[in-house]
Amino acid sequence: MNKKYFSNLTNEERKILVEKGTEAPFSGEYNDLYEAGIFICRACESPLYESNTKFDSGCGWPAFDDEIFDAIVRSEDLSNGRIRTEICCAKCNGHLGHVFNGEKITRKDTRHCVNSLSIKFIPYVNLEHVMFGGGCFWYMEKVFKNIPGIYLSSVGYSGGNSSNPTYEDVCKGDTNHAEVVNLYFNPEKISFDELLQIFWDNHNPTTLNKQRGNEGTQYRSVVFYTSKSQKCTAEKSLSKLQFKLKIPVVTQLLVAEKFYRAEEYHQNYLQKNNLETCSL
Ligand SMILES: [Zn+2]
Repeated sequence: MNKKYFSNLTNEERKILVEKGTEAPFSGEYNDLYEAGIFICRACESPLYESNTKFDSGCGWPAFDDEIFDAIVRSEDLSNGRIRTEICCAKCNGHLGHVFNGEKITRKDTRHCVNSLSIKFIPYVNLEHVMFGGGCFWYMEKVFKNIPGIYLSSVGYSGGNSSNPTYEDVCKGDTNHAEVVNLYFNPEKISFDELLQIFWDNHNPTTLNKQRGNEGTQYRSVVFYTSKSQKCTAEKSLSKLQFKLKIPVVTQLLVAEKFYRAEEYHQNYLQKNNLETCSL
């Protein structure tokens, strides 16, 4: 347990997250909250659950049927004469609650029963959204995923001319979709300018439709911005980069179009498969 994450907690929060307590049922602030956003750890602010996995279990505590990949660790809990599975935040190991399977409440048949005091809700309206394309999306997701202030990352396709494209469609190269990482970030934690710097540093913005051995329009360098202010910041950042480089930057700056989430096996691909890069 990393103490630095727990020093600012209130006594009530500490009782749950550190001493593995349980708040009274129906007492928590998130029990009946069903707004769109992300639930993060109250201690270390690591993203834990997306609001679209929350459901009303009737038990009196917030319930989720899925976690953000790798956000939660499970362990056997034999306290109170019962066999249960405790769930903790994977980053700080703060206690969240317990997870139950086989109750047949949702299709995923899983109930993460979580104390409101262990989590904090960040509505999507407080987050900024951007998509980056910089070659294989497996790699781009790995680059951005664990940066503090990024609350949600997923990979998919955007900028093309077909609806609901599959990986095979995009690989054929005639849909004009780019492989992108879709990011939600808190601008109070990390600025868009800082994200752009990470983007420039982790791909080659001077090679047209070509990155790390992959070729095709799906691998083009592109920023899909979602606001006027992002557009302006991206233009300035690109000009600065161009000034430094001797060869032309070919990165496209485009207004964001619809994001099509890629097939599940592409999500967190490198992490799931314990790979460093996507060069095959
Ligand atoms: Zn945590």
